[in-house]
Amino acid sequence: MKQITTMKMPEKVVIPVSEPLVDVGEMVKVGQKIGEGEHSSVSGEVVAISKLPHPFGKSVLSAVIKTSGDVSVEFQPKKNPSPDEIKQIIKEAGIPAELSPSDIVILNGTDEKPYVTANHALMLEYPDEIIKGLKILMKATGASRGIIGIGVSDSDAMEIMNATREGGIETIPLKTTYTQGMEDLLKHAIIRDAEAMVSTVGMAKAVYDAVFMGKPLIETVVTVTGARETQNVLARIGTPLRSIIEHCGGYKGEPKKIIVNGPMTGVAQPTDEVPVIKGTYGILIQYDVQMEETQPCIDCARCVDVCPMNLLPNVLATSADNARFDICATYRVVDCVECGACAYACPSKIPIVQLIKYAKAELEGEE
Ligand code: SF4
Ligand code: SF4
Repeated sequence: MKQITTMKMPEKVVIPVSEPLVDVGEMVKVGQKIGEGEHSSVSGEVVAISKLPHPFGKSVLSAVIKTSGDVSVEFQPKKNPSPDEIKQIIKEAGIPAELSPSDIVILNGTDEKPYVTANHALMLEYPDEIIKGLKILMKATGASRGIIGIGVSDSDAMEIMNATREGGIETIPLKTTYTQGMEDLLKHAIIRDAEAMVSTVGMAKAVYDAVFMGKPLIETVVTVTGARETQNVLARIGTPLRSIIEHCGGYKGEPKKIIVNGPMTGVAQPTDEVPVIKGTYGILIQYDVQMEETQPCIDCARCVDVCPMNLLPNVLATSADNARFDICATYRVVDCVECGACAYACPSKIPIVQLIKYAKAELEGEE
């Protein structure tokens, strides 16, 4: 069975662009730069540039492109680029990767969020590309070791990555605990006394595309759960959620909630017209039957026990709920890394991370 299905070209895409380089009425090609670090994922006409809902909350300036044809710019791969050239290529391709001198490059191949299997599918479908992308990251950062962390239950991915890997690259089985993907924890779990750069198998694949194909980051793999068919879908950046859900057979009923990126840290969407962006890896549709009722806090302190940042998530959530953002600030809400461990542990199903995000946004607005 194919692990990742590819969507046909969507009718339109909505791509967030902070500083647009194109005007309404202009025709663009696949891969054309349309803003700082942003490229069109389709060919067609720019029909609007306006503030539109973004999957992570606020409305942001976005270019709406109505698709016509399938015309690409000429992608220009670079042969044997130097470390500085690699950094430039990655930046130009719009890949959100921070490259600093490192001893080790670690790729997170775990799918630590419930209902998400995108990393697993990527390793099964693109092992060569991921290994080559990792080698490129190692060259750019000066690292002599590469490590790929793979969930202990993903034995097929472990097998294929072991069969594909080259010298200097190891694979490590990781328990897929809920917070495993968080960068600092992953670094801590794998290596203690070395400078490590942490990225993901998806980013390594994007780096491969940029260097070996000359292709900017214009597509991403998203796990869709709750549509008629659960699928990992290769979708173009800017594709409305509705189009991806249709690709997966459509809704199974009247959706109650559409959540982007996992049930604990993800954000419930006001509409299925919001687009897939570079940070999207999961779409979860919930219906009545799956909804869990939030109960009052019972002061069990499980959230406190699991918080890797030593915060008091219960205090933060209650204070945010009561609009006491001053208390949230006092209790260091800004230090929350939004790993979701507290919400995962909470027996009362309190949406702690959503409340924390709310408090952070309010405090940011006060600055
Ligand atoms: S989401 Fe924030 S408050 Fe909750 S456990 Fe993670 S760091 Fe702590
Ligand atoms: S885990 Fe949930 S119920 Fe328990 S103290 Fe934290 S917020 Fe309250």
